Amino acid sequence: SGKLYLVGTPIGNLEDMTFRAIKTLQSCDIIAAEDTRQTRKLLTHFEITPSMLFSYHEHNKGASGPELIRYIIEGKNLALVSDAGLPAISDPGSDLVQLALEAGITVIPIPGPNAALSALIVSGLPTERFTFGGFLPREKKDMRKVLEAFDESNGTLLFYESPHRIRKTLVHLEEILGDRSIVLARELTKRHEEFARGTVRECIDWLEEHPPLGEYCLLVEGIKEEERKAEREAWWQLMSLADHVS
Ligand code: SAM
Repeated sequence: SGKLYLVGTPIGNLEDMTFRAIKTLQSCDIIAAEDTRQTRKLLTHFEITPSMLFSYHEHNKGASGPELIRYIIEGKNLALVSDAGLPAISDPGSDLVQLALEAGITVIPIPGPNAALSALIVSGLPTERFTFGGFLPREKKDMRKVLEAFDESNGTLLFYESPHRIRKTLVHLEEILGDRSIVLARELTKRHEEFARGTVRECIDWLEEHPPLGEYCLLVEGIKEEERKAEREAWWQLMSLADHVS
C-alpha cells in the first residue's frame, strides 16, 4: 500500500513553502486538492507537474474519499493539500485521514504554515492554553451557545472569519461577551498583513477605517469563570426586572 501525506502549503506568501513540501508533491503519484485551480497555480510556481490532480472537497468527499483510499491501497502515494495552510484544519482533510487510518494506511504530516497559530503567536494573548473554534456560527443565538460552552480552561479562543462577516461577528461578540480584549489578524504573510489589538469596540471602530478585505483570524481573550458568573447574574436580574415591568 502507498502512503497518505498531509502537505502544508503557504497561507499567502509563497516563500513559506517548505523544501519537503515541494519534494513530497513532486514525488507523489496523486495530489488531492480542495480547489484544483488554486493548487495548479501553486504547482506551476514551483514547477511541479503532478501525474494526477484530484479534486477532494466538502461537496464530493463522500464519493472521492473512498476512491482516493482505493488508489492508496493499490500502491499509489497520495499528497493531500488544502487551499492554504494545513490540510484537515477547517477543511474535509480529517475525513480522509479517518478513512486512511481505518484502512491501515500510514499517514504522514508534512508541516507548514497555519493561519490560527501564526496569529496566536504574535497576538500578545496567552499562548500556554488555547482553543481553536474554526468558524463561528452566523446566527447570534447559535454563536452565544458556542461561546457559552467555553470557559477559563479553554484559554485564548481562536476563530476563522471571512471579510463579509467579520463586522457582524464582532457586533454579536460584543453583545454576548461584553468588551473583552481581542486581536484581529488580517492577510497574514501577505502584502497587506495587519493586526488590530484592543477591545471588541475598538476593533469594530478599526474596521470602519480599514474596510474588511482579505482573510481574518479572530482571537478572543479567555473567558474567566467569575466574569461568566457576573454576566449570568446580570442577565437574571434583567430578566426578573422585565418580569416586574410586564
Ligand atoms: N487550513 C487553513 C490553515 O491551516 O490555516 C485554514 C483553512 S480555512 C478554510 C480558511 C480560513 O483561514 C480563512 O477564512 C481565514 O479565516 C483563515 N486564513 C487563511 N489564510 C489566512 C491569512 N493569510 N490571514 C488570515 N487568516 C487566514
